[in-house]
Amino acid sequence: MVERMSRLRGLHTGTPFWSSLSSPPLPRATQRLRDAYDVIVLGAGISGSLVAESLTDDGHSVLVLDRRRPARGSTTASTALLQHELDQPLVRLTKQVGELEAITAYRRSKLALHALHERATRLGIRADLAVRDALYLAGDVLDEGGLERERALRSRAGFEVTTIDRKTLRASYGLNGAAALRSFGDLVANPVALSRGFLRTAVARGAHVAWPVTVVERAERRDHVALLLEDGRRLHARHVVLATGYELAEGVPTRGHHILSTFAIATHVQRRVPWTTECLVWEASDPYLYVRTTPDGRVLCGGGDEEIATEEARDALLADKTRWLESRLARLAPGLDARAAFAWCGFFGASADGLPSLGLLPGHRRTHGLLGYGGNGITFSMLAAQLIRTTIAGGEDPDAALFGFGRRALRPSPRR
Ligand SMILES: Cc1cc2nc3c(=O)[nH]c(=O)nc-3n(C[C@H](O)[C@H](O)[C@H](O)COP(=O)(O)OP(=O)(O)OC[C@H]3O[C@@H](n4cnc5c(N)ncnc54)[C@H](O)[C@@H]3O)c2cc1C
Repeated sequence: MVERMSRLRGLHTGTPFWSSLSSPPLPRATQRLRDAYDVIVLGAGISGSLVAESLTDDGHSVLVLDRRRPARGSTTASTALLQHELDQPLVRLTKQVGELEAITAYRRSKLALHALHERATRLGIRADLAVRDALYLAGDVLDEGGLERERALRSRAGFEVTTIDRKTLRASYGLNGAAALRSFGDLVANPVALSRGFLRTAVARGAHVAWPVTVVERAERRDHVALLLEDGRRLHARHVVLATGYELAEGVPTRGHHILSTFAIATHVQRRVPWTTECLVWEASDPYLYVRTTPDGRVLCGGGDEEIATEEARDALLADKTRWLESRLARLAPGLDARAAFAWCGFFGASADGLPSLGLLPGHRRTHGLLGYGGNGITFSMLAAQLIRTTIAGGEDPDAALFGFGRRALRPSPRR
């Protein structure tokens, strides 16, 4: 069956902080493409780059195609808090998918993040990667009692987590809040540099990469997948990976997932940020707020998600949402200069249980997809790279069913 690829969308608007920095080096673009590869990866954002790096490590011939320059889709808009704690607290996820599955999802996220850090370090990828503790503040999703239940469950599942009271939050971190959980081993990064670093590694191992190239159709056959490019060229591969971010391709099941809009600001350089060297901060609230710092001492703050999936409606809210983020940040951390120097917005993904859908598309043996990148988007990109690598090598990941597209087809989507 011939399936159409995604149409071009305005993935983000405004000035993402990372686009203001000097551009991290691009990989060398390939001038002459071959007709056939082991794997063709569509999308040269963080997902496609991690997949390409992982597959070249296994010795596959890989081609990465993108209609934009590498890492200029949603990856450039990301605030890049790389967390193992999922958008959905463990106590809630347990109610939705069962305790064993929920704990497994948290453990695989932790492992994916660990692997991302380990690989980036070993490969010498310079992307301002830094380890951070995370403060999870009480809010209307989890109050103090809820946070305590969350701590107990995470602790029982083997995660290190401690509680911080209101007084310590104020005195040690300069933050207003009733209580917080402190967990360990999360990361922050420059997402453009991270993505291009992994892609450059793949290219150094022989991968081809080409842009601007738009793929308009694909068709899976018995022993290969055929792709039609906008300029009429045809390419073939044993496997195709659809790493097209929020530009969803036809045939990727979206059940349980939806697209919404999110907003972010970066402040001017601060004179002092009490939690700078140690923590990223996020709230157990809906709508929520999250905060990190940059290496040059700014505060990145995002959130205020809205159920909006059109560019016009999203962009019309940017000025109001910028003011909302400024005032929420000022209330959270009264010592800061919360005025925005950069403001931007973009599409975002969410699923009812916060889990992604990754792996082979239902009814396919050679077409792999990635879906559901919300606040854990980059963590899930790494998880996808791990799962897809195993499948293409002919193996079976023990947790493939938990993250697979088939799970949502079998289970009705639980409401939050
Ligand atoms: C404001 C904001 C803040 C965020 N904060 C965080 C955060 O703190 N932590 C986190 O983990 N995640 C965060 N995310 C989510 C994260 O940014 C995304 O999950 C991630 O960037 C998705 O990467 P990707 O490579 O899958 O998609 P993209 O970066 O969009 O790359 C997909 C690429 O596919 C290409 N493409 C699509 N269709 C075709 C086609 N037919 N032919 C050729 N090329 C095609 C596109 O041009 C694009 O470059 C945030 C997102 C936003 C918008």
